[in-house]
Amino acid sequence: MNVLEIENLEKTYKLSKNDKIKVLRGVNLKVEKGEMVAIMGPSGSGKTTLLNILSGIDCADKGSVLFNGNDLINMSKSKLALFRRQKMGLVFQEFNLIDSLNIKENIMMPMILEKKEMEEMESKTQEITRLLGISDILDKDMHEISGGQKQRAAICRALVNEPDIIFADEPTGNLDSKSTKDVINYLNIINENLGTSVLMVTHDSFAASYFKRVILLKDGEIISDISKKSSRKEFFQEILDVLSLIGGDSDEF
Ligand code: ADP
Ligand code: MG
Repeated sequence: MNVLEIENLEKTYKLSKNDKIKVLRGVNLKVEKGEMVAIMGPSGSGKTTLLNILSGIDCADKGSVLFNGNDLINMSKSKLALFRRQKMGLVFQEFNLIDSLNIKENIMMPMILEKKEMEEMESKTQEITRLLGISDILDKDMHEISGGQKQRAAICRALVNEPDIIFADEPTGNLDSKSTKDVINYLNIINENLGTSVLMVTHDSFAASYFKRVILLKDGEIISDISKKSSRKEFFQEILDVLSLIGGDSDEF
């Protein structure tokens, strides 16, 4: 069973009357239920555009996206909104938490929007925050917690409505190496415990090596798709080798 089936996805942005940029040039990708996939590629290669189309934030020009077998591209606006709230969890580099709310209120927000019972919201918050190791700081305000804790709270918020997939766009981009390791570790924990699929954009080869599959995007096309065969260490080396093949400045990753 595939959670995502993407075929010939194309996207062009119009920059001005005579100027446009083709950002996705026929992307094909299948993601199995429960898979963890890291998307890598130079800046401007279309990673965010791809994730935004998959999560319904942006529209494609051509191609098809099946989400659990449902046609996402031709879905009505109201059904898409429902899908986004109930089936997808989004995590961003900037956390996107609401500063005027405490951690618990932030985490509960998607459930409040779904008008869930208080009892259910309380028990779900306990369950998920325990899994992410932040159940003892729920009453804290945003200015009282670290970036790593904020991102763990954002992951909890993404999980409370029990989505099938988490879309994460450079979730460790604002974190130090210790917090990066933590966040990657927790993504693996939720994948194992809840079976949630994860599609994560990252520049960090080390972080990507903790996933089971890495896809490389360049100029709007998938040019490499590799899966972990043996150890994480060997996979890390394989990722570095693939990245070096496409050339360019290694700092871009
Ligand atoms: P990445 O996430 O891989 O860095 P993006 O998907 O953000 O790449 O962007 C790919 C290209 O599309 C870039 O050249 C970017 O400037 C351009 N782009 C992205 N969003 C828009 C937009 N809304 N309007 C015009 N151009 C855009
Ligand atoms: Mg991006």
